[in-house]
Amino acid sequence: MTIVAPAYILTPSKILRHKAVAFDTKIQKIAPLEELLKLYPQATIIKAPDQLLLPTFANPHLHLEFSANKATLSYGDFIPWLYSVIEHRENLLPMCDRSCLDQALDTILTSGTGAIGAISSYGEDLQACANSPLKVHFFPEIIGSNPAAADVMYASFLERFHQAKKHENHRFKTGVAIHSPYSVHYVLAKKALQIAKKYDSLVTVHFMESKAEREWLDSARGPFAKFFKDLLGQSRPVNDPKEFLELFMEHRTLFVHMIWADEKEWEMVKSMDATIVHCPISNRLLGNGVLDLQKVDPLPYTLATDGLSSNYSLNLYEELKAALFLHPNKNAVTFAKELIERSSTEGYKALGFEGGIIKEQAPADFQLVSLPQDLQNQEEIYLHLILHTSKPQAVYIEGKRHGT
Ligand SMILES: [Zn+2]
Repeated sequence: MTIVAPAYILTPSKILRHKAVAFDTKIQKIAPLEELLKLYPQATIIKAPDQLLLPTFANPHLHLEFSANKATLSYGDFIPWLYSVIEHRENLLPMCDRSCLDQALDTILTSGTGAIGAISSYGEDLQACANSPLKVHFFPEIIGSNPAAADVMYASFLERFHQAKKHENHRFKTGVAIHSPYSVHYVLAKKALQIAKKYDSLVTVHFMESKAEREWLDSARGPFAKFFKDLLGQSRPVNDPKEFLELFMEHRTLFVHMIWADEKEWEMVKSMDATIVHCPISNRLLGNGVLDLQKVDPLPYTLATDGLSSNYSLNLYEELKAALFLHPNKNAVTFAKELIERSSTEGYKALGFEGGIIKEQAPADFQLVSLPQDLQNQEEIYLHLILHTSKPQAVYIEGKRHGT
């Protein structure tokens, strides 16, 4: 047994003072230190009088296979970015070998994230994810708008899905990723979702990320018209967005981006078992705008980094800072608390893992962070945590310490 005694605990919905946490792989007891010392006289004590204890974060949407990108891909606008992905992916993918993947996973872990949703296009990241101490919901992705290639694309997806299934345990789950309504033929999406139904898998989909996607799906116009004509000889979209959304009615789904979703689509998504995944930095860099969080309500939402194909970091503290500044109409103090809760408890829940909360019998997944010594107003602790933290001092996953 180990006992950690920090200055503050964020559960994260409540702020606890003068409490300590006794843990092995799980949190066994939360009580004043003196009480825990009597209960567990043999325990190892970690005194952390200048630190704050909070749950690890969950990052439910990233693309590890693109982790070699720093400045290869074009930012600023979605369509030039997409062209640059197509142009450079043959070079970028092999550049992210096992050590690159391990390094990305290590950055995630040591920056305070304990659970991820990994969208896998090729399956190259499977072993690294399965061997990581992180809790991983692994999503083999299906893509393909050309009916002639549908069988090949489906076979590839199925192979990667079953490979991932072999690694399942309490830390590793397999889901199904449908790339998007513009890139996955209706029949192909339907077949992949039948697999999700059969195995009761969590589903994830990029939906209405860009203005170009909106225009293309609504009217077969805009910059996607040239893209599809030049690259695939396609003149019509492969989905009606509402019919496409109906496919998800019976599934638990993480809808990623949603910036350009219309009223009717929001209404449909709100009738489903849905969580919205908000990627503010990726959206900013690709010129997609900012998700209106008022439209999300009352659905749950979480924050995610997306991949290094559209971000400079997989550290969720960076995403928290960006979110704080990209929603200027929200009160900074109360919104900071909301963001921390969404990124921990809500994120773990969205991925289907226990954790993301400091309570008895929860897994001992938490982080210790230095606290500004001049903190005056206790309720501002969430805001100062976001503003003053770039990395925690220690991260524990199921009671095992990682990091410095
Ligand atoms: Zn993505």
